[in-house]
Amino acid sequence: MQINVLKFGGTSMADHKTWKQVLEIINKYEFPVVVVSATARTTRRLVEAGELAARGKLKEALEISDSIKERHNQIVEDFLKENPHEKNKLIKDSCRKNTEAKISKLNKLLTYTERQSTLSPQMKDAIAGMGEQISSYLLAQCGLALNMMTQHIEARKIIKTDAEYGKANPNLLEINQRCGSLETVLENGFIPIIGGFYGESPKKTITTLGFEGSDYTASLIGGAVNAETIEIWTDVSGIYTSDPRFIPEAKPLDEMSYFDATEMAYFGAKVLHPSTLKPAQERNIPVFVKNMFEPEAAGTKIIRESHHELDVLAMSFKRDIATLTISAYETVMGYSFLTKVFSVLEKHRLAVDAVNTTEASVTIALSDSALLDTLSKEFIEVGNVSLTKDKGLLTLIGCSVNSAQKLTEHIFGALGDIPLDLISFSKEKRILNLVLNNEELIEVAKRIHKKLF
Ligand code: ADP
Ligand code: ASP
Ligand code: MG
Repeated sequence: MQINVLKFGGTSMADHKTWKQVLEIINKYEFPVVVVSATARTTRRLVEAGELAARGKLKEALEISDSIKERHNQIVEDFLKENPHEKNKLIKDSCRKNTEAKISKLNKLLTYTERQSTLSPQMKDAIAGMGEQISSYLLAQCGLALNMMTQHIEARKIIKTDAEYGKANPNLLEINQRCGSLETVLENGFIPIIGGFYGESPKKTITTLGFEGSDYTASLIGGAVNAETIEIWTDVSGIYTSDPRFIPEAKPLDEMSYFDATEMAYFGAKVLHPSTLKPAQERNIPVFVKNMFEPEAAGTKIIRESHHELDVLAMSFKRDIATLTISAYETVMGYSFLTKVFSVLEKHRLAVDAVNTTEASVTIALSDSALLDTLSKEFIEVGNVSLTKDKGLLTLIGCSVNSAQKLTEHIFGALGDIPLDLISFSKEKRILNLVLNNEELIEVAKRIHKKLF
């Protein structure tokens, strides 16, 4: 059985018209396993509701919950109106009942959050995961109105994780075992539809895999069923040389390697969750990024080895970076200085984006977070600390080994008199990182893109 895992993101799940398009794409496959996101903007609104409740604004939080309910009821209603079927009443009733139950659970979580006056990570995940729980059930029901044998499969039964809320780690052994049931569903002629992004901890609580986590759900399932392809269906025709929303001249790439695509996601390209390619890579499963609205366009194929003759393959950028420079006290031995700095990062499980060192100082660039002040305090044990916020990180990916000279010339030409905070280049990894001010990031990205692509 050659299984294709298809993932549809928030924009694909925007309204009843896109739901129809999603179902039509699914219908072209013999053995599809489908993973869907929440409807567009729903996850963000759910988190907003949780935050409002924690600040005592339960009424506003419940209004959001109510509008989410109304929106989903409306999508189903419009869908069924445009796709009449003898079972429509049955489908509509079961949709309403399911959404009602989910929203009533959500309201309980919001009320509890208000009483606690804080949105705990556990509660935040339970609330945030609600969007996919609702959308996946409803899409499966709407499939029935098109005479498709769509079957909702609860993600909690399959995506088993640890209890690290907000960024849960999948339990691959359990996931691999439980995905066996999907093959039975397919053998019986049904099409499994699963909510992405969330899973379940050993304590049976809801966890989430991080923002954009539905991509990761799809690849975890793809790896587990040893899929023929994992296909990320979205609103652009593949991975572009840079974010087309900001760089209109950006072009889609035909092909790239797992490594380059991972780096691209890690350094800010929202088109993929950074962990997506891991399960695919382990089993050498090609990953496609394709456009829902232009299904005929080739999209991008991501595979193990992809060679190119270009000076540079692509460019990512990421806003809201902070830089921390730690200058060692004279009493701290040079050889233990870096160990001390990195053990603080390890303690807080923080990954850095770029690093520069001199013999007695280190500058690290990392995403701005609530932890920065704690970090700065801990670094004071080792040296003088200076913290700068509101920075942006620009990353060139797949730099050709022989073009470093040419690239830096172009970069400095593009920068003009815009100040640069940090530059680092890894020949081995073919990555060049620049840190500069947030407000100049997009302008510099545009200029560099014009020169290099
Ligand atoms: P989905 O809802 O399908 O998950 P996302 O919004 O998460 O969609 O991802 C698609 C968006 O990613 C695109 O609309 C685009 O703006 C953004 N993006 C950022 N960098 C890139 C890139 N290099 N190539 C393509 N899209 C990118
Ligand atoms: N709905 C989640 C988010 O907005 C997961 C996803 O769409 O991939 O991050
Ligand atoms: Mg996405």
